[in-house]
Amino acid sequence: MVPDERMSEHDDPSDRPAIWEFDVADPMRRNQVVGRAAVLGAAAGVLAVGLAARGRRVSAAGVVAGAGALGAAAFVPTAPLFGPTLSRGPAAGSQAALTFDDGPGPSTDALLDVLADEGVHATFFVLGRQARAYPHLIVRMQRDGHQIASHGYDHGILVFRGPRYVDQQLRATEAAVVAAAGPGALTPYFRAPHGFRGPATWLSARRRGYHMAAWTTGVWDTAEPGVEVIVARSAEALVPGAVILLHDADGWDATRARPQTVDAIPGICAAARDLGLALVRFDELVGV
Ligand SMILES: [Zn+2]
Repeated sequence: MVPDERMSEHDDPSDRPAIWEFDVADPMRRNQVVGRAAVLGAAAGVLAVGLAARGRRVSAAGVVAGAGALGAAAFVPTAPLFGPTLSRGPAAGSQAALTFDDGPGPSTDALLDVLADEGVHATFFVLGRQARAYPHLIVRMQRDGHQIASHGYDHGILVFRGPRYVDQQLRATEAAVVAAAGPGALTPYFRAPHGFRGPATWLSARRRGYHMAAWTTGVWDTAEPGVEVIVARSAEALVPGAVILLHDADGWDATRARPQTVDAIPGICAAARDLGLALVRFDELVGV
């Protein structure tokens, strides 16, 4: 397990600066990443037009195809070019998984209450920043039998980041979870913020022993469409092997609650029961 090895390297953590005090700029947000990708795409387009104007149609087509492939690799969570991702369980089985990103946060305790009432184990892709703010909820997740996995430290987007930045995001999250609940609490699964990945993402995660995790269906509960819509979208997505993406907090606003998501859980669990699907942890579902 990744965190155990980390902590055994150091005898006295107070002798060194906290690992989360890493010297990086503000995390890059989604609109900044999309903006930079648009500039690169436009540059590729200009290059392709220039090549085509000089009669080099094959080269121009290659530039367009290459830019398209890189864009898909970065922004499609299950695209294979930047490394394999686990996104679903067996279609022939009778299990599915509920996964929650961005927490723990103000709604997580209530969510854990509902999951306990339903007898369902879920997977939490936690932010290290949030684990530091709500360590008792990390402890409760583990005690209640849920899977704790990594979503990075501060939701900074990784597409244009190098290996050092990705490594810092992973290590700072490991340190926060270990500080909350001890070695072994964090399972070696990593879901990149928004599922966006760059060339360094998988390489760095793999080097630290992580599996990359994605999902089959995003419910878009962050748009707060209402409890009934969240239930209906989730129920529609519940098929054998499904991995449902929900949120118990907000990647950017650490204080934001998710009451609609909490209130939707009984309806989602009832829908799963009606379909004969057992809701299990992501690691149980994907079987690695
Ligand atoms: Zn997120």
